[in-house]
Amino acid sequence: MANDIAATKDGRRMKSAGGKVREGREPCVRCLRTTYAIGKVTPYGPACNACSPYFSKGGVCAHCGKESRWLSKVLRLGIDQPICPACQRLDHGNCALCRRNRLLYDDGAGRLLCKRCLTKGTVACRTCGKPSPAGRGGECDDCYWNRLLSKRIDIAAVVFDRKENAEIFRAFGEWLREDAGAHPAAIKINRYFEFFLEMWSSGENIPDATTLLKHFSAGLLRKNFQPLRFLEEKGLVKITATDRMEVTERKRIKEIMAQSAETGSAHIFMIRYHDRLTERMREGVTGLSSVRLALSPALALLKTAIMNGRELPCQEDLLEYLGTAPGQRAAVSGFVCLLRDEFGAELALPSVKSLRCKIARRRPENRLDLERELMELMRSVDKSEKDRRKLVELSLRYFHRIPARMARKMAVEDQLVEIDGGDMAVLSGKKHYWLPKQLYYVTSF
Ligand SMILES: [Zn+2]
Ligand SMILES: [Zn+2]
Ligand SMILES: [Zn+2]
Ligand SMILES: [Zn+2]
Repeated sequence: MANDIAATKDGRRMKSAGGKVREGREPCVRCLRTTYAIGKVTPYGPACNACSPYFSKGGVCAHCGKESRWLSKVLRLGIDQPICPACQRLDHGNCALCRRNRLLYDDGAGRLLCKRCLTKGTVACRTCGKPSPAGRGGECDDCYWNRLLSKRIDIAAVVFDRKENAEIFRAFGEWLREDAGAHPAAIKINRYFEFFLEMWSSGENIPDATTLLKHFSAGLLRKNFQPLRFLEEKGLVKITATDRMEVTERKRIKEIMAQSAETGSAHIFMIRYHDRLTERMREGVTGLSSVRLALSPALALLKTAIMNGRELPCQEDLLEYLGTAPGQRAAVSGFVCLLRDEFGAELALPSVKSLRCKIARRRPENRLDLERELMELMRSVDKSEKDRRKLVELSLRYFHRIPARMARKMAVEDQLVEIDGGDMAVLSGKKHYWLPKQLYYVTSF
């Protein structure tokens, strides 16, 4: 590409100056370097060697057919046409011993190894003397991660102004090494470092539990579970069970509201309900757990309505929801009242007695029964359309543990398609639910 001929804007043809790395050139049009070897003279000015592919038209990879600007020949692969970067690394992969991504060779015993591991096998680790794959460069896995962790602790500890804080952080690093192992510790230490930085950014010392819980969101505290455990173990922070529960509940409520936000305009009902519950909490009538316990069935009811194509739930949705969760009658009652009073929904809670009948009728799915029913149906010779549908329904329940009501719906509404190897699958949404081949032969759909 170095001596490519490029056309200028006005159609003149220019030859690339080509070749040597020189200082003080006109800046490369792409990277603005001034010390480089000219790769190509483009209509916009000269481009360096590294940037020149960006101005070439590229071509088609001779191996996979994808278009690329970075085609090049790799005679090693026995393909004498230019190929794309992905195909150029066809004979690369992770070495079975050192796990580095390198050019691989067969060692004759079915293992694919990098050149170093193939020729040198294992060598003694320079730190601990244990044998380690040669491809790892003379240092074993353990020593590598231990060294990396120590280095990261050292670098991070310098940032803390106060000596005590740096000491606490160092102690935490060592504690983590013991607790989680050097490898996970080395990977996570920098993330935890941010927690310490944040914690000490506001006050002088370690803040008390209430400030800590208030300062950090529930998600952040969950992510920084390890530092908190350390601080607690060392007696630096005392977080009571109540504090912890409060954080968890707040997190759950947040999750419920986030899920509700995905329901679109029905979210407004949840916001209103959330407000009302928070008000009651402020008055001291309910606690945080009760708020969460009221919000989750409310969301479930909304979802049922949305599944049925409605935003504001109607009586039918309520009955359907309570049919699946009869125990939630009391929990959902507050939401039902709100929908009725403020949004004009026509809803009436069914009596406890009628729901009790439903509970009695509902039995846990007996897999043996299901199996028997499935086998019987598979054996029967003359199958009506209804039988076939039943067969699909039972298979979905048996193999995929899909609830009966949903399986029935899927057997009717969703497509049965053939997938690889002659197996069948039910296509529901974008998901395939595989059904066994035998079913196909016996039933001949
Ligand atoms: Zn450049
Ligand atoms: Zn290719
Ligand atoms: Zn290797
Ligand atoms: Zn070692």
